[in-house]
Amino acid sequence: MAINSVIIVGAGPAGLLLAVLLSQLQPRPHITILDAAPTLDGAPRATHYGPPAIQLFRKAGILAEIRRDGYMPERICWRKLNGERICGYDRSLMHDNGLDGDGLTVYWVGRLCALLERELKSRSGISVQWGSKVVALKSGLASTDVEATVVAETSDGSTITHTADYVIGCDGGNSTVRRLMFGPRNFPGHSWDVQVMATNTMYDFDQFGWEDTQFVIHPEHWYMAARIGAHPDPKQNIWRISYGELPGLSAEELMARQEMKFEKMLPGHPKPEQYKVLNKSPYRVHQRCVDKMRMARVLLAADAAHLCNPFGGLGLTGGIVDKWHELINPISTANIRRLFQQDPEKVLEEDEYMRLVKQAETDLELSRELQNASNELLYDYTQHYHRPRPQARGVPEIAKL
Ligand SMILES: Cc1cc2nc3c(=O)[nH]c(=O)nc-3n(C[C@H](O)[C@H](O)[C@H](O)COP(=O)(O)OP(=O)(O)OC[C@H]3O[C@@H](n4cnc5c(N)ncnc54)[C@H](O)[C@@H]3O)c2cc1C
Repeated sequence: MAINSVIIVGAGPAGLLLAVLLSQLQPRPHITILDAAPTLDGAPRATHYGPPAIQLFRKAGILAEIRRDGYMPERICWRKLNGERICGYDRSLMHDNGLDGDGLTVYWVGRLCALLERELKSRSGISVQWGSKVVALKSGLASTDVEATVVAETSDGSTITHTADYVIGCDGGNSTVRRLMFGPRNFPGHSWDVQVMATNTMYDFDQFGWEDTQFVIHPEHWYMAARIGAHPDPKQNIWRISYGELPGLSAEELMARQEMKFEKMLPGHPKPEQYKVLNKSPYRVHQRCVDKMRMARVLLAADAAHLCNPFGGLGLTGGIVDKWHELINPISTANIRRLFQQDPEKVLEEDEYMRLVKQAETDLELSRELQNASNELLYDYTQHYHRPRPQARGVPEIAKL
């Protein structure tokens, strides 16, 4: 039996992408997206997407536009705070013979969401309802339920119930759907004892010979600086600068410390008039994953189901392909630990991965192998789907999802 209707809670990148992919089913289900916010979220978050996400963007029919307006970074390295290069990759190696067709691409998540929203508007049977905050689940969690019903509070204070074959919680790290499924505290994992400040900043890193992405290893001033736009004038280039901060500081205190942090950690020790911060936002960082992503008619996806720290760009990429325990958690944990728990002077001896990256600088086959590692995330989950038995009336064809 076909899926007739789906409610997606959350119009972030995961919810919008899921809606586009679901809209490709035949017959197309009726899709309702409910989002608590008045409009798309503009906070500085995902920018880098690895091959697994790129393949889904292709499937959704949006890759050409992403590649036209985004860019593919070529050089990635690790540095000491004084700027000295420790080791790195040359991604242009992967461009050989079109092998990098699914390669790492930079595209702001705000643009990605706007593109997906536009795509959805061009299709019938899909409604995006802003200012609709899901607050309760009336049905859908019992194995006998044949549909799922949510209650949403609208911006004018009224409540509306929505019913569909399935409800999918794509409502982010603070997911209400997850709390309604498993209770307020049941999100296994841990939170890091550090905070992260993410900024989009115009600063001329090119004058220092910096590469497309660098991870700076230092016990206090650890950070990532990644070019997120390819402007011909280096002074106009926008960089994602994400840095570690002390635990326990309020959002206001973190905001106020940004100028001091930039002066201490960035090459050239710039004063505020030498750069322009376009936006900035503090984040707590977590490694968490639910025990299961489905109860009867209610499902979870992406950040609502699992979280990781942002170093290595595995959040959304991992969120839409779901191999959290085997890959996303261990790799992203190693990525952030390396930045503040390794001694930059000894990292090449003590960190096996850094040693391999160094070796790969002169061993191009090894370099290709290491850079291809994120392809391991690619996994065809449909092989585990249960096809409906013909006599089981009322069981929808999950296999097509
Ligand atoms: C600094 C930073 C950098 C990052 N960089 C990368 C990167 O380079 N690559 C990468 O892959 N990932 C990255 N990530 C992670 C990535 O941004 C997230 O994984 C991604 O945004 C998650 O998308 P989502 O749709 O699951 O959730 P969200 O983007 O959080 O969207 C959730 C939506 O649900 C809505 N919502 C919440 N509660 C309700 C409710 N009760 N009812 C209705 N709607 C609700 C919200 O308004 C929001 O629109 C980064 C994250 C951070 C913080």
